[in-house]
Amino acid sequence: MSLSDIKNSIRNIPNHPKPGIQFKDITTAMKQPNVMREIIDMLAAHFAEAKIDYVVGIEARGFIFGAALAYKLGCGFVPVRKPGKLPAKTIAEEYALEYGTDKLEIHQDALQKGDRVLIVDDLIAIGGTAEAAAKLVQKLGAEIVAFAFVIELLELDGRAKLEPVAEVYSLVQY
Ligand code: AMP
Repeated sequence: MSLSDIKNSIRNIPNHPKPGIQFKDITTAMKQPNVMREIIDMLAAHFAEAKIDYVVGIEARGFIFGAALAYKLGCGFVPVRKPGKLPAKTIAEEYALEYGTDKLEIHQDALQKGDRVLIVDDLIAIGGTAEAAAKLVQKLGAEIVAFAFVIELLELDGRAKLEPVAEVYSLVQY
């Protein structure tokens, strides 16, 4: 199992959900137990010594990788969700997507000052989603140690938005 095996397991869907978008479909990767295990093991190996207190996973595909990674790292998992989904008191942040705009929320009491956080999503495109999650984490006073993605779309240069904040780590790049 190598990075090219992981890459080959990700399906490209042209023109979804809009013309011109090359949608990276991770369902074909997740279906294969050895691919899923390798993705989580590689991410966990990179952050093994980073003393992460919480993985913050971004709805929805960030939950899949983030929760498995939190289990592997032996740390907690905190969800960042679309509006109206979290039941307790939240704070919100609006952001621009590669296709449209959206808003993210986090529970106001989910993180404390000084907590060491790893923000996880399946993919970074223009970086607005992860940047909004970062603002939420920062508003709660926690420390962002790094951002981790399975997939990075290099030509959109989303990492430029995040690198001033913390390390940006991705497994496979297009
Ligand atoms: P962005 O804020 O532009 O970095 O977009 C990242 C978020 O949108 C992630 O949660 C991705 O799941 C999703 N996304 C954006 N572009 C794509 C794409 N080309 N293929 C799959 N998911 C994408």
